[in-house]
Amino acid sequence: MCGIVGYTGPREAYPIIIKGLKRLEYRGYDSTGVALQNGGVKVYKKKGKVAELEEAIVGKNLHAHVGIGHTRWATHGEPSDRNAHPHQSSSGKLAMIHNGIIENYSQLKNELIKKGYVFHSDTDTEVLLNFIEEIKTNNSCTLEEAVRIALKRVVGAYVILLVDADDPETIIAARKGSPLVIGIGKGEHFLGSDASPMLEYTKEVVYVNDYELAIVRPDELILKNLGNEKLTPYVQKLDLELAAIEKGGYEHFMLKEIFEQPQTIYDCLRGRLDASNGTITMSGIQQYADQIVKASRIVIIACGTSWHAGLVAEYIIEELCRINVEVEYASEFRYRNPVITKGDVIIAISQSGETADTLVAIETAKAKGAIILGVVNVVGSSIARISHGGAYTHAGPEIGVASTKAFTGQLAVLTMIALKIAYIKGSISHERYMHLLNELQEIPEKVAWVLKNSEHIKKIAEKYKDARDFLYLGRGYNFPVALEGALKLKEISYIHAEGYPAAEMKHGPIALVDDSLPVVFIATRDAYHEKIVSNMQEIKARKGRVISVITEGDEHSTSLSEDVMIIPEADEIVAPMLSVVPLQLLAYYIGVAKGQDVDKPRNLAKSVTVE
Ligand code: GLU
Repeated sequence: MCGIVGYTGPREAYPIIIKGLKRLEYRGYDSTGVALQNGGVKVYKKKGKVAELEEAIVGKNLHAHVGIGHTRWATHGEPSDRNAHPHQSSSGKLAMIHNGIIENYSQLKNELIKKGYVFHSDTDTEVLLNFIEEIKTNNSCTLEEAVRIALKRVVGAYVILLVDADDPETIIAARKGSPLVIGIGKGEHFLGSDASPMLEYTKEVVYVNDYELAIVRPDELILKNLGNEKLTPYVQKLDLELAAIEKGGYEHFMLKEIFEQPQTIYDCLRGRLDASNGTITMSGIQQYADQIVKASRIVIIACGTSWHAGLVAEYIIEELCRINVEVEYASEFRYRNPVITKGDVIIAISQSGETADTLVAIETAKAKGAIILGVVNVVGSSIARISHGGAYTHAGPEIGVASTKAFTGQLAVLTMIALKIAYIKGSISHERYMHLLNELQEIPEKVAWVLKNSEHIKKIAEKYKDARDFLYLGRGYNFPVALEGALKLKEISYIHAEGYPAAEMKHGPIALVDDSLPVVFIATRDAYHEKIVSNMQEIKARKGRVISVITEGDEHSTSLSEDVMIIPEADEIVAPMLSVVPLQLLAYYIGVAKGQDVDKPRNLAKSVTVE
């Protein structure tokens, strides 16, 4: 995954790079490093987060107008000082940072070792760098040319930024499969994994495409393909403000993002949902409406939290549209030669729009004739661009590594898609359609109501924070919410947690129940309510500690629970957007109570751009 930043221009490069890396830490934080053009290429790098490097190099001469920086999520070689990027070539003249994986690195490494190269790290990155240097020396060609030749032999995914002591104003960049944005300033250029490092300097950006190479100087941006043909950079205006990527007074991004949900869901519905006129406007869906209505099946492809949103959508689409839906993990789908026929509809869900497995999975399906609809948060991201249609979630930048507002945004979009298709298909009655539009419109207000109980949830978190395991149980629409609740807790607190369909627990997990096991029931009022109440009785009979998420006024469930978290009355189809909120807060407060770094949980990174 990794975050990369680059700068070339008249300003001091180091502070821009450090600030940019801090904004990109959501992408990885195993180690940090910078390379600065300062009478030769000077590299400073260290295991740990950006702030640790910053502290370690106070007092050094960091003056430079050109530089690159990296925050790593290790794939090849443990997180350590020696494996930190930037790597330097054998001659010491080139320095490079890399986001991605070079799959044929060991073959290239063997070739280079035979030629006498010595490696100082375990990374695939250092291999690619020396491979480039070897080509440059052997062919007496320019660095740009060497990069182009090298990349034709590389199997894998990369964004690379390179600096050369012999050409101190230039940064060479190339991309395949990982994101790269170039910001255009006046007499200066910025490079980043996303636009956040350049927000205060420019709103003009170019999203570099796969198999493109950029030669970046203060006054010049040359974009080429790997065939050495010049391309015209497509300059876009950024619609993102600095405040959107700052904490705004909250202790953590995760808490800020949980509390933003009334607004983000509202933003997602705004301009699309008109409950009074009974319309849903989604041009990226409308265009393909005929094909979707006729489709014999819809395949939803996603990973992690997005996969849970996909499961909720499966229940909703099948119920409202009467179309068969399958939900697939992208990583499994892409490798098992799936049966895709022309006219199948694929919905790809991804917060970042850069999830490597999802990206490849939809490329495969697209090649087989499927219609691809993207449900993506980051505007202009790879999945958004490769999809035929779809809809953005408009949740704004999500920086906390554990996804919260992106999930509820995905649910809002997917519910609107289901309602729109059901309406066109005629598989929903007018009354139910109008009722659900109104229910959807009320969600932002109801989420705000749930958030008012956060202090109560904090107390529950403190009470259960030392539990070793948690079980989360739900039925129907609330089963994926149980999975999501368990995932949040695992990510943030490192407590083992399992989500299960409530009835399935009799087939195994009930053996875990004793008087120390908290069992979280998502037991809001729905068609299965009586059934889940019986499951609560079964856990209580075995002395499990029942905590439940219930609908306001549910006395019976309250009497069966040691603690309750309440949501307002809502139709079961929209209720997951409410019932997940107390679970996000529970995970957050448990994580904080245990002293964990909730915005940067260990081993994780936000945008999984490696497979
Ligand atoms: N493969 C490189 C490394 O392990 C880059 C990793 C990444 O992009 O996450 O250092």
